[in-house]
Amino acid sequence: MNPWVAKALVLAGTLVMVVIRAPHGRRSRSVKVAASHKTPLETGLLVVAWMGFFVPLIWVVSPAFSFAEYPLRNGLLVGGVTCLVIGLWLFYRSHADLGTNWSITLEMREQHQLITRGVYRYIRHPMYSALALYSVGQALIIPNYVAGPANLIALAILLALRVRAEERMMLEGFGDEYAAYSARTKRLTPGVW
Ligand code: SAH
Repeated sequence: MNPWVAKALVLAGTLVMVVIRAPHGRRSRSVKVAASHKTPLETGLLVVAWMGFFVPLIWVVSPAFSFAEYPLRNGLLVGGVTCLVIGLWLFYRSHADLGTNWSITLEMREQHQLITRGVYRYIRHPMYSALALYSVGQALIIPNYVAGPANLIALAILLALRVRAEERMMLEGFGDEYAAYSARTKRLTPGVW
């Protein structure tokens, strides 16, 4: 199959993701940060995440990774689109539920509220689950050994080094309320982890 189908899907997915996030980025800038937990490690993780975001786009617009191409298969494409669509839906829902409490990094906002409703009722990190689904979708859709898994690898590094620090910050900020929330929810997958 023509890789342009995969390229169009990757571009469309990226566009939807940017459209979902843009208004939240603008809104969250208008709410003051009460306590920043942005360490040098966090800055490094954001750089890794941006690399994971851009490598698939470089694959779309240039032949930079042509040495790592393989043929596109229908089954992988269908599985990938399914993951991408569910991931984008969850990305939208988690932004809607988190509202102005969202930050791109580890920060507590003024009047920060602990959200435990909506998709946050089932898991503590639905936005990361959304990004995981989206990244698996990209890995299946992009017929390239470098560009395909780039986002997934970046996300795995981010999650491995951020989730515990984020939960420590939330526990510090919300105490027993967050401890009780943690006791009744899993992190990324309901009933599993
Ligand atoms: N880990 C969450 C949120 C990612 S955005 C998810 O995957 O859905 C990261 C910021 O969201 C953190 O800096 C923190 O300030 C905020 N945050 C995380 N969980 C939250 C919650 N349950 N309620 C309110 N804010 C939360």
